[in-house]
Amino acid sequence: LRDVNKTYDGAVPLHVLKGINLDVFKGELVSIMGASGSGKSTLLNILGILDNYDSGEYYIDGKLIKDLSENRAAEYRNRMIGFVFQSFNLINYKNAVENVALPLFYQGVSRKKRNKLAMEQLEKMGLADRAHHLPGELSGGQKQRVAIARAMITNPSIILADEPTGALDSKTSHDVMGIFRELNEVDGKTIIIVTHDPGVAAQTNRLIRISDGVIVPESSPIVIP
Ligand code: ATP
Ligand code: MG
Repeated sequence: LRDVNKTYDGAVPLHVLKGINLDVFKGELVSIMGASGSGKSTLLNILGILDNYDSGEYYIDGKLIKDLSENRAAEYRNRMIGFVFQSFNLINYKNAVENVALPLFYQGVSRKKRNKLAMEQLEKMGLADRAHHLPGELSGGQKQRVAIARAMITNPSIILADEPTGALDSKTSHDVMGIFRELNEVDGKTIIIVTHDPGVAAQTNRLIRISDGVIVPESSPIVIP
């Protein structure tokens, strides 16, 4: 990101991101921390090509995202980026394997192939025996693992997670972080995690602090609590 600015329009326009400069390199595992309202989700949505920015530049792999047509941007997003959210965002009336397979449905992959690939992802998350359970029949940690499996089904190179452990207890949160670490270390995924939890940040390799829409210059290394 180069000097990226974002203002939300409204009766009183809100300048949320104020000249963000940020480099994240392939294969990094980074966390973003900052007070509520400081602009973390806004930043993550821009990184995920879910939202536009007003000025500045955003490049992925040297490609200027603003230059892409809406269709190309969507294609880029679907191919490159997997999302994980605090509230899991699973579809309640679909079982685990159907939830995981959903992105492939939108890509027109056949039902048989979708289910096979989705089962493989669930197995990888240690959830093969929960494949036919509905989200309401799963624990928080299991739901988040289903959501991570869904994010991984298209084999994205970038994973963006907005407070993925925000709804989990500390043991479950640690387990979920273990999955992110493995995806980073073993599969080489580039992962950016927004969190309020210093314990989560300590399990990443770099901490980026944001304060009132500005990235705080690196001041100190991560302190492991
Ligand atoms: P939290 O830790 O509470 O999730 P955050 O750092 O993720 O906070 P953002 O969601 O990025 O914060 O919001 C930054 C500011 O922008 C807040 O003041 C918020 O009210 C405002 N905001 C967010 N989304 C919109 C929107 N769609 N329209 C108008 N204002 C918005
Ligand atoms: Mg947020």
